[in-house]
Amino acid sequence: MYPRPFKYERAENINHALELLAKYNADARILAGGMSLIPLMKLRIVSPNYVVDIGRLFDLKRIERKKDSIEIGALVTHNSIIDNASLKELPIMSSTAKVIGDIQVRNMGTIGGSVAFADPSSDWIPTLLALKASVICRTQKEERKVPLEFLLKDSYELNLKPDELITKIIIPLPKSDLINVGLHLKLERRTGDYGIAIVSVQASLSHEKEIQEIGIGIGAVNKVPFRPVEVEKILLGSTLNNEIIEKATKEFSSIIEELDVLSDIKAPAWYRKDVILTLFRRSLYGVLQIAEGRTLEDVFT
Ligand SMILES: Cc1cc2nc3c(=O)[nH]c(=O)nc-3n(C[C@H](O)[C@H](O)[C@H](O)COP(=O)(O)OP(=O)(O)OC[C@H]3O[C@@H](n4cnc5c(N)ncnc54)[C@H](O)[C@@H]3O)c2cc1C
Repeated sequence: MYPRPFKYERAENINHALELLAKYNADARILAGGMSLIPLMKLRIVSPNYVVDIGRLFDLKRIERKKDSIEIGALVTHNSIIDNASLKELPIMSSTAKVIGDIQVRNMGTIGGSVAFADPSSDWIPTLLALKASVICRTQKEERKVPLEFLLKDSYELNLKPDELITKIIIPLPKSDLINVGLHLKLERRTGDYGIAIVSVQASLSHEKEIQEIGIGIGAVNKVPFRPVEVEKILLGSTLNNEIIEKATKEFSSIIEELDVLSDIKAPAWYRKDVILTLFRRSLYGVLQIAEGRTLEDVFT
C-alpha cells in the first residue's frame, strides 16, 4: 500500500530541523533511517502531513569520546556501532548492534530512531538502560538531558514533545581499573527477529569480584523496558558468586510475577516469563565467568 500524501522537507542542519519541527509540530514526523516509520506510513498506521528528513545532519552521525563518557549521535547506524574502536570499553554496544534485524536494517536504522520509536522489544533500550545512558533532546528553545528511564512512557511512546529532536545519547564510561563486563542476551524466534525476551547487564567488579557498579535492562517482556532496581541493589556491593546470583534471581522472579507480561503471536506470557528468568540467571553467571577470565565466546558457544 502507498502512504497517504504528505509533504517532504529535508533539514539542512540541526537548527533547520528544529525550525521545521516547531512550525509543523504534531503534524510532522521525523524521518531518520526510515526502517520503522516508512512501513508504518505504508500501512497507514501513521499518516503525518509532513515528514522532516534528518538523514543529512552529519553532526548527528558522530561518536565522540569525552573524558568520562561517550556521546553517540542520534543518526549513528546500528552497523557503524559494530566493532567501532571508539566503543572498545563498551563491547556490549557491538554485541547489541550485531543482533538487530538483518544487514539492511543495521545499515539504515539508527540508534536515535530506535530509542524514539520505543518499541518494547527494542534491543537498544535494555542495553542503554543497563549502561545508565541519558538522552539529549532539543527544541528551538531548550536542550535537556534526560536519563533514558525517565523518557520511557509507554509502548511506542516517550515523554518527548512533538517538536523535540533527539540529538545524542550519552553513556558514562566504566572505570578502567575495574573488571568491566557487559552482556546482551536475547531470545528471538528466528535470527533477525525482534526478541521475545532480552536481558542486558553491565557490571564493574573489583579483582576480588565485588560488584562496584551494576546496571540491568529488561526488554521485550512487558510494555516498557525497565531496570529491576531492587535486584541491582541486592547485587551492588556484594561479591558475585553462585549464592548471590540465586538470591538476585529469586528477587527478579518475584518482580516478573508482579509484571503484566506480554502475550502475543510471538510468545505467550508463561513462555516469556520462563525465558526471561533463564536469560537473567545466565547473564549473571556469564558476568561471573568472564570476570574469572573466560571469554565471551567460551561462555556462550
Ligand atoms: C525487518 C526489521 C527488523 C527489525 N529488527 C529489529 C530488532 O531485532 N531489534 C531492534 O531493536 N530493532 C529492530 N528493527 C527496528 C530498527 O532497529 C529501526 O532501525 C528502528 O526501530 C528505528 O530506527 P530508524 O532510524 O529507522 O527510525 P525511523 O524509522 O526513521 O523513525 C522511527 C520513529 O522515531 C522517530 N525518530 C527518529 N529519529 C528521531 C530523533 N532523532 N528524534 C526524535 N524522533 C525520532 C520517527 O519520527 C519515527 O516516529 C527492525 C526493523 C525492521 C524493518
